[in-house]
Amino acid sequence: MRLVLVGPPGAGKGTQAARLAQRYDVPAISTGDIFRANVKGKTKLGRQAQEYMSQGALVPDEVTNAMVRDRLSRDDVFGGFLLDGYPRTPDQAVELEGMLDDNGTALDAVVELVADVDEVTRRLLKRAEIEGRVDDNEDVIRKRLSVYAESTAPVTAYYDGQGLLVRVDAVGDVDVVTERLVGALSAQ
Ligand code: AMP
Repeated sequence: MRLVLVGPPGAGKGTQAARLAQRYDVPAISTGDIFRANVKGKTKLGRQAQEYMSQGALVPDEVTNAMVRDRLSRDDVFGGFLLDGYPRTPDQAVELEGMLDDNGTALDAVVELVADVDEVTRRLLKRAEIEGRVDDNEDVIRKRLSVYAESTAPVTAYYDGQGLLVRVDAVGDVDVVTERLVGALSAQ
């Protein structure tokens, strides 16, 4: 399985990515998690990403694409992977296609978790209380949601045109959403 999971911040991408990765026995690769680990570890990549992340903006494509290219060159993705939070721009989608082409592979499906703005804002504010992520305050949340709508809508449209897009309602019990995802993928 070579999967991409997209959806607005707060739609439960991380939670569902971990569950799907386990179900299909592939590594879950979250660009947000990799960036956060690099910020924490004070690496060069972390320094490059930090400013953008704290403002709720996207890290430049050049930086993000190089990081994903590096990650997808490792042996553990040979049998498949689940990308969580990438691609998020049309340029990243084109780059990913190139990376997979180079390996003679292609995506099996792109899953979009669908949730409305009020629902995801409510979830993010709750997560802010629990996890204290610096980009989970109201202004940055609003910014991240508008960045998602603007940058990522053309990405889902692009995959829809290729017949790869599967849209799944992300509102409801976590287990129910997982089963919806698995059901939608097996029907794909
Ligand atoms: P996430 O955990 O997926 O919500 O990502 C947190 C932050 O990491 C985002 O707000 C961006 O600043 C950065 N980020 C994660 N994935 C990407 C990506 N594919 N392209 C650019 N920036 C990203």
